[in-house]
Amino acid sequence: MKIAYLGLGIMGRPMAVNLVKAGHEVTVWNRTAKSVEGAKTAATPAEAAKDAEVVWMCVADTKAVETVLFGAGGVESVLRPGVTVIDSSTIAPKATVEFAKRVRAKGAEFVDAPVTGSKVGAENAQLLFIVGGPEKTVEALDPLFRALGKKVIRVGETGAGESAKIGMNLMIASIFEGFAEALALTGKLGVKPEILVELIENSMIRSGVTDYKSKFVLKQDWSANFPLRLMLKDIHLMLDTAKDEGVKLPALTEIEKVYQKAVAAGHADDDFASTVETVRGL
Ligand code: NAP
Repeated sequence: MKIAYLGLGIMGRPMAVNLVKAGHEVTVWNRTAKSVEGAKTAATPAEAAKDAEVVWMCVADTKAVETVLFGAGGVESVLRPGVTVIDSSTIAPKATVEFAKRVRAKGAEFVDAPVTGSKVGAENAQLLFIVGGPEKTVEALDPLFRALGKKVIRVGETGAGESAKIGMNLMIASIFEGFAEALALTGKLGVKPEILVELIENSMIRSGVTDYKSKFVLKQDWSANFPLRLMLKDIHLMLDTAKDEGVKLPALTEIEKVYQKAVAAGHADDDFASTVETVRGL
């Protein structure tokens, strides 16, 4: 299949690599020049998308998706019937619905397919796709999702994938904050972090979040798998959406302050696991 892959960051690059490995004809584009072995490189999103059957994006935030689709050299100018746009970025559910309307006005289809599984999941083609879009379109994309992931769950119509995704990341931020606060308290009491981790691993507290992150925390390795700035972006998506919907998120409101402190301390580009240090210093 002819696929344009737009955005070669921590998540996008391994996804594009795995599409090439699966035998697809891939053309990549990234804001700052980057390439992928076995794929063509385009100078603009429109150039990448001009002959593509599928245009797949994984960029930082809502503004970035808007620019890639509708900005100068954006995908919109080459959209036509038969093309499906897939967005694997984590962005605002409301904006997703608006973007999909504009894409459909050109006769193309739009599916939101944010992911979970982080850098390791993307590299090992073990992502979970959280999908919103028309049933038939999502079904037709199944082989592509399977080439990059272990499971696909269709949540509902367009935007529903992003709605569910921000709920999933709300859980990740909350679970990790519990881990960071437990480390801060038990550390003061003289419990070794590796013992706390062993206890977690052998109890009902065990979770994918602590399984993934504890190895990095024990080594104090803050290299970004999921950059803190992006988790803060997601926290803002959750808080803004909750405000629109009249839902209170008291714990997340406090967690946001921890992330602001971490950014002020220079951790924006580190992994969000570095909030362990921020919490310890509160
Ligand atoms: P990343 O490494 O920071 O990459 C961000 C990508 O977006 C880069 O290709 C960047 O281009 C591009 N970009 C940023 N602003 C742009 C703009 N205004 N116009 C065009 N392109 C722009 O982030 P990532 O970890 O790959 O995450 C990508 C998306 O997946 C985010 O929405 C994130 O929340 C979501 N996500 C991440 C993870 C994870 O664990 N990392 C897991 C699930 C979902 P440059 O290279 O030029 O900066």
